[in-house]
Amino acid sequence: GKFRDGLSKTRQSFSSKVNNLVKRYRKVDEDFFEELEEILIGADVGVNTVMDLIERLKDEARTRNIKETEDLKEVIVEVLSGMLTASEGDTALRMNDNGMTVILVVGVNGVGKTTTIGKLAYKFKEEGKSVMLAAGDTFRAGAIDQLEVWGERASVDVIKHSEGSDPAAVVYDAITSAKSRKADVLICDTAGRLQNKVNLMKELEKVKRVITRELPDAPHEVLLVLDATTGQNALNQAKIFRDATDVTGIILTKLDGTAKGGIVLAIRHELDLPVKFIGLGEGIHDLQPFDSDAFVYGLFA
Ligand code: GDP
Repeated sequence: GKFRDGLSKTRQSFSSKVNNLVKRYRKVDEDFFEELEEILIGADVGVNTVMDLIERLKDEARTRNIKETEDLKEVIVEVLSGMLTASEGDTALRMNDNGMTVILVVGVNGVGKTTTIGKLAYKFKEEGKSVMLAAGDTFRAGAIDQLEVWGERASVDVIKHSEGSDPAAVVYDAITSAKSRKADVLICDTAGRLQNKVNLMKELEKVKRVITRELPDAPHEVLLVLDATTGQNALNQAKIFRDATDVTGIILTKLDGTAKGGIVLAIRHELDLPVKFIGLGEGIHDLQPFDSDAFVYGLFA
């Protein structure tokens, strides 16, 4: 289905390389592992993660006495999948069972934050929930208008102030309106100008404080949006946000646009944060809950 189609670039590149390698070598040896290492690094799995993976594979090959590359292929799938699920955490969104759920969405400009908020709003609407959006990126020109376009597409209301106003005030207003209208979900957009890291992180903290002051359990999720096509850069961005604020999960966008879907493994392995959704296209339907088994089998199937 969608999951499989969205990963077609990664699958074609990755599985054809692995299959080719398996055929070329037949017997498992040190050179085989070295070439496999290169393929994985080329797929953006990340050096640390690859080292760990290769070690695990060698262990498995040794303990199970696997000599043929064809037999090892199964083990590669197993180990990849095990690596994703073992550190998975909770991939489901944490929802507030007795009241409004507040979701804060953070990330650098251009990663697909606005699009993802639109997709999420639509998803909740489809589930029969009432949704509101807060236009918390008051900094980037056009951000408010763009969020309104997505609000219309998803048929949800957007609370906004003018460009340049205080994002915390927008979010405060949005919480007040969402409470009085008894909304089920409030999704808050935030600025993504990483050029001024310190100011941005202060701004995010202020927004978060306002939310928590109004609703002690909120925000229920702080979702960091990352662009899969930016590879190791995405990983670096994630570390900056994770160290500055309590990120609770990752949404990885544009996986349809890259052959380097291995970045999912690097994120799981090096950040210890669950990937909760993946973006597989520009349309409103193109957001999928992350499923590690479907992901790994999607790489080979
Ligand atoms: P923002 O600056 O982070 O708010 O980014 P936008 O939401 O404006 O998205 C930037 C670009 O990425 C737009 O052209 C989107 O259509 C595109 N985009 C967002 N998510 C995806 C995705 O999952 N797949 C693809 N192919 N494009 C995406």
